[in-house]
Amino acid sequence: MTSSSNVDPHEIAKFEALASRWWDRDGEFRPLHDINPLRANYIDQHSPVCDQRLLDVGCGGGILAEAMAQRGAIVTGIDMGEAPLSVAQLHRRESELDIRYVHTSAEQLAQGEAGRYDIVCCLEMLEHVPDPGAVIAACAELARPGGALYFSTINRNPKAFALAIVGAEYILRLLPAGTHEYAKFIRPSELAGWLRDADLVLEGMTGLTYNPLTRNYRLNPKDLDVNYIVRAVKPA
Ligand code: SAH
Repeated sequence: MTSSSNVDPHEIAKFEALASRWWDRDGEFRPLHDINPLRANYIDQHSPVCDQRLLDVGCGGGILAEAMAQRGAIVTGIDMGEAPLSVAQLHRRESELDIRYVHTSAEQLAQGEAGRYDIVCCLEMLEHVPDPGAVIAACAELARPGGALYFSTINRNPKAFALAIVGAEYILRLLPAGTHEYAKFIRPSELAGWLRDADLVLEGMTGLTYNPLTRNYRLNPKDLDVNYIVRAVKPA
């Protein structure tokens, strides 16, 4: 698959339509705001980000990018959506953070900036892309030898269907109906296979569980059933 075709315009359109509400903590992106401290801490714990060059692939409105910049990372955020990136640019000014945002894909960026990043993050994006393996391969190229990579997505099984689609989109209405497509969810074994194909070494996986009653989010390495984060390294 060529780099230009590994973007689904229908997926980008979903995020374009919602972009103005990206920083509304009670809006459609509330789940991302709610999980952000957990994932930001997870990344910072395993790969202290201060003064590191960090790339956020599919950064959207910049929720993770800003959290990483606040911790002292030198952040570049990329996204194929124009509207989410404009929101990210404006919000960065409000937050008085120095973040570089570029409208590009991981595959395109890898042609000019291979090996430049100490840390590459690609969170909640792979399940919106036609060929996730190609994105992972591009992320691997963008990382320097010895660099760390973080991916998060949603598992594919009946429980994930029940919680992430029926529960989140139709019952709790946390997300607009149609945000996620079941067939695009990714099993940890599939993600692990793409990491191997990209010559990355899988270092760990942890689940991210959500209790809708208490609105409590936590990391749980024993429960990868629905949302999960994977960390890998590019061998030095
Ligand atoms: N990573 C962010 C946003 C997740 S929403 C976070 O977790 O907070 C998914 C984002 O991926 C959207 O902003 C969408 O525009 C972007 N996206 C989808 N396909 C993409 C692709 N092929 N390349 C780059 N960005 C993409």
